[in-house]
Amino acid sequence: MRYISTRGKAPALTFEEAMLTGLARDGGLYVPEEVPTLTNAQIAAMAGKSYEDVAFEVMRPFIGETFTDAQFKTLISRAYAGFGHAARAPLVQLDSNHFLLELFHGPTLAFKDFAMQLIGQMFQAALSRSGERVTIVGATSGDTGSAAIEAFRGLAAVDVFILYPHGRVSEVQRRQMTTPAESNVHALAVDGDFDDCQAAVKDMFNDFTFREEVKLAGVNSINWGRVLAQVVYYFTAAVSLGAPHREVSFTVPTGNFGDIFAGYIAKKMGLPIADLVVATNRNDILHRTLQTGAYTKEGVTPTISPSMDIQVSSNFERALFDAYGRDGAAVAGQMDDLGNGGFEISQGAYQMLKDTFKSGRASEEDTFTAIKHYRANHGELLCPHTAVGVHVAEEHLGATPMVTLATAHPAKFPDAVKEATGITAPLPPRMADLYDRPERVTRVAGDLAAIQAVIRGRMTH
Ligand SMILES: *Cc1c(COP(=O)(O)O)cnc(C)c1O
Repeated sequence: MRYISTRGKAPALTFEEAMLTGLARDGGLYVPEEVPTLTNAQIAAMAGKSYEDVAFEVMRPFIGETFTDAQFKTLISRAYAGFGHAARAPLVQLDSNHFLLELFHGPTLAFKDFAMQLIGQMFQAALSRSGERVTIVGATSGDTGSAAIEAFRGLAAVDVFILYPHGRVSEVQRRQMTTPAESNVHALAVDGDFDDCQAAVKDMFNDFTFREEVKLAGVNSINWGRVLAQVVYYFTAAVSLGAPHREVSFTVPTGNFGDIFAGYIAKKMGLPIADLVVATNRNDILHRTLQTGAYTKEGVTPTISPSMDIQVSSNFERALFDAYGRDGAAVAGQMDDLGNGGFEISQGAYQMLKDTFKSGRASEEDTFTAIKHYRANHGELLCPHTAVGVHVAEEHLGATPMVTLATAHPAKFPDAVKEATGITAPLPPRMADLYDRPERVTRVAGDLAAIQAVIRGRMTH
């Protein structure tokens, strides 16, 4: 299994290389040269198996020779051992044909743990074999950073620097990043918004001298290893609702397009998914693009679902690559135009995207209303991101079972939940002392040179 860049000009890599590299050297994202498929019999045989066993079967064809079967099984089992639910991703019924896939039972209470915990194990195994060390730099709108710090804290072969927009993450998110005491993890509060943080990380990857000097590695949602880990729960959810004998639809609260792209891969692998619905908050570039065919940037407006306050949706490039018949030059041309504010997707490519993804958006009012309504009428406390998904899913309910991804625990966003319902969502007991732990954070200007100087000064290797 080889991985190729969406811009067509970087060398093809193995799974291990693609995972450790993150962004390709031509600025593109790595995708598998071919997506392996599973037969209906293989999918049917997943019924009743553990999350870990399904994870092994879904991901094994993608990892090539990077790990032996026995090693890979061990890494998967370690990755999910710290989850607070035996099913890892339990499915609960919300309404007659509407289900919630609870992805918030990991150590930082958001779905990012599914990918990050596994990536942590895979990085550690690959690096300890080669004796190398890397510096992981990531941008976060809140949940990626906390999941990364949690997954890599104390690992000898890595330093982790997480850039988050100062003042724009929830207190729980911030504390999950600033309270781990291990000296290899560093939270940087950047003056700017998430897109500024993400742009700084991209610039560091394109600064080849710096990239070599600090042995830069990325674990942002563009990392193929993360997308892959997220494919698994589409299978466990669909199989428990009757796949492959019955079709299932999914609605996915979306920001960087990583989670929904994992659903697209699951479908390409042969999982019978009817609709894949993109749900955005009022930062709705993806919804607008799917409605109009024009990908145009607007400013970011802060919302109560901050992990989706994004205007440049990195993983969308992977969908564009397929929409353009895997023509890297066409994708590279469009991405150049993004610097001027946006681009028009060509007719054929737009048609493919419209046939593949449906979409909807939720205003702040819609989101509050959904939280309030589902608490009062269904007894479910939704986090604001999940509420965006549930609101949009309601517009797409039909005969096919609908699964909305519940991407975070309500206690991770207590202010919005309290405003909507009057209820303070309690943290699970295993992290009840979060508010008492001391914080450690570095404030930094939203300026590439300033950020690079902090990284050089703090690296432990
Ligand atoms: C990251 C995140 C999202 C958006 O996921 P993408 O993969 O970026 O589309 C939605 N909800 C929560 C809680 C998140 O942390």
